[in-house]
Amino acid sequence: MRLVLLGPPGAGKGTQAKRLSTKYGICHLSSGEMLRAAAAAGTPVGLKAKSLIDNGEFVPDEMIVSIIAERIDHPDCAAGFILDGFPRTVPQAEALERLLAERRLSLDVVVALVVNESILLERIEKRIADMTARGEPLRADDNPDVLYDRLATYRKQTAPLIDHYARKGILRTVDGMDSVENVSAAIDEILAGVRSRSQVGDKARTRRKGPRKPAKRAKKRARPRAARRGRGAVKARKAAPRRRPSTGRKSKAGQRKSGSRRRLTKRR
Ligand code: AMP
Repeated sequence: MRLVLLGPPGAGKGTQAKRLSTKYGICHLSSGEMLRAAAAAGTPVGLKAKSLIDNGEFVPDEMIVSIIAERIDHPDCAAGFILDGFPRTVPQAEALERLLAERRLSLDVVVALVVNESILLERIEKRIADMTARGEPLRADDNPDVLYDRLATYRKQTAPLIDHYARKGILRTVDGMDSVENVSAAIDEILAGVRSRSQVGDKARTRRKGPRKPAKRAKKRARPRAARRGRGAVKARKAAPRRRPSTGRKSKAGQRKSGSRRRLTKRR
């Protein structure tokens, strides 16, 4: 199963993605976590991403798309994956579609967690205050100002993905303000339907032994010449002389014709 979890920062995507990864045995691909890991490891990509992440700005599309493409090819993603934090823009969604198509894969579903932004801000501010009180380390982008900007960016750049996926017919929405248990139950119900559909597809693919092949184009059947002529075709057919019902006997002309054809074949 391959799915995308959509929702603004703090909507609970991470919690749900981790749970679903365990439940379905599919990998959880968090773009933010992958970028933070690259930054911590001090890789060239990570160092480039670090200041952008700390300021809550997006990293360039090609950077995140190539990280995701490479990760999807790992064997642990063979059974499927949950994308969390990617795609974040329509061009990223289009890049994802291309890279999946190159692998003859597609998304099964996109689950959007719908939230009330002002309640969300309050929740996140409370979580930051609680973590600070407990002396727990905070992420550099875990501060109300950065968060406010990230929500604005979500609205402008990521929310259009809801329409994008709705048009494709694979969007499902869940009330992200509900309790974790209810959000989990709602997502599970959606995925139960999707899973049975995707299993039918997987079984068909296994029977064919190998990945899905592009559908063969049906051969174009030659249209009768009269039909190719367009509207006049009907008239032309009407005007044609009616054949007499066959008596079983061949006409002289017919005999001559077939006789000459036989001679030609013999000479060749
Ligand atoms: P997240 O943990 O998903 O909130 O992501 C943390 C930060 O990583 C974001 O604020 C961005 O700076 C960067 N980031 C994560 N995913 C993407 C993405 N798909 N496109 C661009 N930047 C991203």
